[in-house]
Amino acid sequence: MPRDIITLACTECKERNYTGTKNKRLESGRREVKKYCPHDKKHTLHRETK
Ligand SMILES: [Zn+2]
Repeated sequence: MPRDIITLACTECKERNYTGTKNKRLESGRREVKKYCPHDKKHTLHRETK
């Protein structure tokens, strides 16, 4: 199955902190994950970006 690389960016400081893969056949819409942001030094919401 094809997998696409996605980037997860912090919604507060816009830093791109994480990358991952996503199967577009199984997942629709933008992924939002709570992850630790080293820039903000706390957990923030990270959103899939291009
Ligand atoms: Zn941040």
